[in-house]
Amino acid sequence: MLRHLLLIWCMLTAAHARPQSTSSYSIIPQPRSITCTTDTFPLSASTLIQFNGPCESEASLLKITLKEAGIANAEVVPWAPDERSENIIILSCGATSTPSPEELSFLPGNLGKLPVSQNSGQYSISMNAQAVHVKASDAAGVFYAIQTLRQMLFQHTAITGRILLPCAQIQDQPAFVHRGMLLDCCRHFMSVDFVKRYIDLLALHKMNVLHWHLTEDQGWRIEIKAYPKLTEVGAWRIEKNGLRYGGYYTQDDIREIVAYAQKRHVMVIPEIELPGHAVAALASYPQFSCTGEPIAVQNDWGVFKDIYCAGNDDTFTFLRTVLDEVCALFPAPYIHIGGDEVPKYRWENCSKCQKRMSDEKLSSEAELQTWFINRIAAYLKEKNKQIIGWDEIIEGGIPERAVVQVWRDMEHGREAASDGHSVVMSPTSHCYFDYGLQSIDLEKVYAFDPVPTTFTAEERALVRGGECNMWTEHAPQELVDSKVFPRLLAMAEVLWTYPKTRNCAAFRARVNTHQKQLQSLGVQSGFAEIPVTFTQAPGWYGMTKVTIAAVDPGTTLTYKHMPLEGGADDPRGFIPVTHPIDVKGACSIRVKAKQPTSDHETEITRYFVSHEGMGKTLTLNYELNSYYPGGGKDALIDGRIGSTDFRDGVWQATQGKDMQAVLDLGALRDISFVRTRWYHYTNAWIFRPEEVRYEYSTDGVTWKIMDTIKAPGALNTLNEQLPYSYAVEAEPGTYAGRYIRMTAINSGPCPPWHEAAGAESWMFVDELEVR
Ligand SMILES: [Zn+2]
Repeated sequence: MLRHLLLIWCMLTAAHARPQSTSSYSIIPQPRSITCTTDTFPLSASTLIQFNGPCESEASLLKITLKEAGIANAEVVPWAPDERSENIIILSCGATSTPSPEELSFLPGNLGKLPVSQNSGQYSISMNAQAVHVKASDAAGVFYAIQTLRQMLFQHTAITGRILLPCAQIQDQPAFVHRGMLLDCCRHFMSVDFVKRYIDLLALHKMNVLHWHLTEDQGWRIEIKAYPKLTEVGAWRIEKNGLRYGGYYTQDDIREIVAYAQKRHVMVIPEIELPGHAVAALASYPQFSCTGEPIAVQNDWGVFKDIYCAGNDDTFTFLRTVLDEVCALFPAPYIHIGGDEVPKYRWENCSKCQKRMSDEKLSSEAELQTWFINRIAAYLKEKNKQIIGWDEIIEGGIPERAVVQVWRDMEHGREAASDGHSVVMSPTSHCYFDYGLQSIDLEKVYAFDPVPTTFTAEERALVRGGECNMWTEHAPQELVDSKVFPRLLAMAEVLWTYPKTRNCAAFRARVNTHQKQLQSLGVQSGFAEIPVTFTQAPGWYGMTKVTIAAVDPGTTLTYKHMPLEGGADDPRGFIPVTHPIDVKGACSIRVKAKQPTSDHETEITRYFVSHEGMGKTLTLNYELNSYYPGGGKDALIDGRIGSTDFRDGVWQATQGKDMQAVLDLGALRDISFVRTRWYHYTNAWIFRPEEVRYEYSTDGVTWKIMDTIKAPGALNTLNEQLPYSYAVEAEPGTYAGRYIRMTAINSGPCPPWHEAAGAESWMFVDELEVR
């Protein structure tokens, strides 16, 4: 509350003192404490930068920052007492510059015992008309102060080489020590410049870890001198279109990137996946797989059964040699060894692996995996490196000193923490930036709490922080920005500030301001949420009226309307959205939305149908499933039809139950057409109904059968993701009724051939159309 009062006060006083400008700053992540004053500090080419303590490198970065803001040629010199008392920026770093405990009273109380290393990154900025004084406990703190200044400077334009920077007093420090982003350069390769650019973007938002995913089934990306085939063979795959795709980082590239990151206080943690996600390595050196058979670098996404052979001692010689070179390249105290998604099929069928299990008295392949990882961890410990692994590494017992990175449920983090292991949180629920905005939008990320309330104080203290994960199966380099931004801003603020209460509206306002700075840096930011809303209602002459609106008024929308059952597409192509659209029959509406501050454009398609049932009275004789309500109790007559994605929110489902719905048309009608559409996707346990019965009635009491439609064809193993249509059509005058009753019979448990044989199957329906 105090901070808010101060901000309001400073805006008010600024308004009195300097009616031409505002001195409230919009900074992401929000500093812990910021108090504006009415003074201004004049910045120009004659401003002197002085550094006091081991922060000369940071001082030269400040010079670059000033140049970016239009202040060229500021001089950088070591601090000397009485050299100058005006027009100076002093950067002080070291123990004597550490803010006092009183200055840190803003620390959140709900973090439990803070790790000792928490002090890294603390800084304060005090400004008056004569000087800007940055004090920090270490060089990282000086660097973060400069990032804060960089955002402040951007909000004030240089006029003829001079900026009058409104003064502020700022105190700040990070909540979590590990503030990271995973960049997957394997599924798609990213250039050296692109990786360095991401290091800059992370640093601007006070993130300090680049988790660099360097080896995968689809590509090995790091040069290993002892094993040249890893990059001659493993770095390249033949795509399904026949084209060769790939690339890798030479050891010189890696040294360049690591040095660049070090200067910006970003730790680069390499991920060398084992024992799974190793197809590219095994394509290069098949002798380290269980079968020894030649395989190709994967060109498909998923989890693959070929993994390193745990029974072959040569595998460990190979991995140790690889890790020797990796350790020499990366100064970070951590090596990420993956450990996720390890199918045990090859190990179960490999005599060498089975012999290893009996020699080592291991009772399961899960224990063999732990043994494998322990062996690697012990080797890395000799080299003074600690392992980080995905949360599956805890399954056969947690390897000693391992840091566990949680990607599944955060309870796995508790399991690790209760055993005394440090954890890094990156659950799929909030941190997977490859996911679409329908599941993880900006507000969802902003609500992320890396420290679940169920954790004890001791467990909380072991949460080092979190990461957002940018997997790139569906994101080549040119799409990465639109996935990462603006969601990264929310992640940065959660991990740095760990706000106790999240004022999302205030955060969104700062994001809007900050987008201009991202734009100036060439960031092709995506949307904060799905940018378009569609609402539909019964229209004139039995048509459906669809209203399309942009969530952010700055978004440019165009659309194209396409009939699904005959009729021509709109010959005009995509045209501006100016008024509601009337649709007749079934159609798709494709909307292109253009982001206001970048070139990013996205396309969103929705499906609609017009029919007489819309807006009438529907009674469901089944309970809505909480995961798939399909839009609620009137979803079957809302005029929306589903896409080929059963999770699109339009499909309504039940599991193991029949479905019956009664529609009251309000008056006696001649019924000539009734149709329902049913999803069929056996991999997801979704089966079309055994039969659908349509009945009609004049009073809702006595029913007559219109038709009973059996499932089209015998139940088979078809796995298409397609709807089946169950329709009845009649000549006019055949059926006169006010009520229609639809009954769908579930096809029973998953059949014997199914992987989930005997489990209750699902039925998914989108609309009950009546004409
Ligand atoms: Zn084996």
